[in-house]
Amino acid sequence: MAFINCPKCGRLVPDTYTNCPMCKAPLNAPKQSDTQQSIYVNVPEKSNSNGLGVAGFVLALIGLFIGWVPALGWIIWLLGAIFSFAGLFKQPRGLAIAGFVISFIDLLLLLLVFGAGLSLLGALGAIGAAAS
Ligand SMILES: [Zn+2]
Repeated sequence: MAFINCPKCGRLVPDTYTNCPMCKAPLNAPKQSDTQQSIYVNVPEKSNSNGLGVAGFVLALIGLFIGWVPALGWIIWLLGAIFSFAGLFKQPRGLAIAGFVISFIDLLLLLLVFGAGLSLLGALGAIGAAAS
């Protein structure tokens, strides 16, 4: 029976063991740490959060409620649209897509409000012109 040194505690362990009986360290540690490293390299890339997409989504959502507020609402909407659009090129982009869609809805609502407001102004102007 051959003995190998535990890579962690240095104790002599029969090579039939897969783990050191003393410190439980895996005896084929170099190989395992290699595979673990390659896994660790991949995990952070996948779990990266899309900050731009999240910011765009939140701003678009806020813009949905205050998009009609002059200046402030428009800035929030514009930032939401820009962040969402920039977030589309990053992963994960679920929230970025949602933010972009909401920004589009914001724009439609804004145009609708503007259109209603303009036609109302036009109607008022027509009434005013007729009255005078
Ligand atoms: Zn050990």
